[in-house]
Amino acid sequence: MQTEWVDSRRAVEELKELAGLTGGPDGARRVAWTDEWAKARGWLREKLEEIGGVEVETDEAGNLWATAPSDSESAVLLGGHIDSVPNGGWLDGALNTVAALEVMRVLAPQRRPVTLRLVDWADEEGARFGRSLFGSGAAAGSLKPDDVRGLRDRDGVALPDALAEHGIELDRVNEASRQLENAIAYLELHIEQGPVLERMDLPLGVVTGCFGVERHAVRFTGQHAHSGSTPMDVRRDAFIAAARSAVTFRDDAARREDVRATTGFVNVSPAIVTAFNGWCETSLDQRALDADVLAEVLKTAREESEKVAEEEGVSVEWERLWRIEPIPFDEELIELAEEAVTEVAGSSHRLPSGPLHDAAEMARLMPTVMLFVKSLRGLSHTKEEDTPEEDLELSVRALHRLAVKAMEREASRG
Ligand SMILES: [Zn+2]
Repeated sequence: MQTEWVDSRRAVEELKELAGLTGGPDGARRVAWTDEWAKARGWLREKLEEIGGVEVETDEAGNLWATAPSDSESAVLLGGHIDSVPNGGWLDGALNTVAALEVMRVLAPQRRPVTLRLVDWADEEGARFGRSLFGSGAAAGSLKPDDVRGLRDRDGVALPDALAEHGIELDRVNEASRQLENAIAYLELHIEQGPVLERMDLPLGVVTGCFGVERHAVRFTGQHAHSGSTPMDVRRDAFIAAARSAVTFRDDAARREDVRATTGFVNVSPAIVTAFNGWCETSLDQRALDADVLAEVLKTAREESEKVAEEEGVSVEWERLWRIEPIPFDEELIELAEEAVTEVAGSSHRLPSGPLHDAAEMARLMPTVMLFVKSLRGLSHTKEEDTPEEDLELSVRALHRLAVKAMEREASRG
């Protein structure tokens, strides 16, 4: 297979064309299950249908598939999502889709050892109904119709009715799973949406997986009392215990590589100027790519909070709000992706993904990897989202090379 002739410039021009069609001064308007999204979809479908030998179809969950068959039914998948958040950026999701379109154009007419497929997932963002990863979750089986049947948008429109307008029957969305039957690898290019690559002055990186998350409410209970009459050494100040604990959570995460710890909400009572607080509730959101590391930072945080609570004469209790396991990507594909990135950009960097992507759903089912391209100022989900055009071009070339490598790997296995 040739690796040289991908027209990365055309991909950038088509991204601009899509932004012109379904965006404007206030950002992208491609919210899933709306007319603007359908328009973007129609635009993509037309471009795919122009490629000779490619079959285009929509599955039961509303995902758009383009298939370039080969003698082997085993398929390498290139994934993206053309939907956006309201007033979103021009690249989030669209880059993956348009880059994959260009890769299909180049590789579909060539003899390939395996089938190549593009998928534009339906409703990755969950912007209208609040459920992200709709299409990929439906195909993977993690989204069940009953979990989302009652969802309504801001105007009171029920999700099943919005789906029906686009020809989708909620009770049949899991039938999209048959699309994944012959899939052997899933590749996704995305903007980083964070500051890491820009800070390292690198255009491209390879994603090692999606963070696992442990999210808790941490509540401290002491006794509030008068600010004037209570000497400092007898106070049971719940806020001070919470604040000291939050610093230990932050410091423990900062000591480690690629671990996050965030205190988000802080509520105190009685919250008046003439008393210290007898009650304080905080949230703690911890993230790591390794399950053991995540368990360890959680254990350390609990122990630290108990130690601090004892010193401050208060009690502490933890309540889990939410958790998700880390989703590591495939080591062999990570290495292939590093080769591809190094070939087009000279060097590569491994980094985890903070946000979840459709790739997280696929990684449970098949070898998966993602490429990240630099985001300027780390901004995303805003019209300010941007990436230098020369870096976008590099990312298209890297995706192309990775697709070729993933197909050749399968061929070499016979
Ligand atoms: Zn995205």
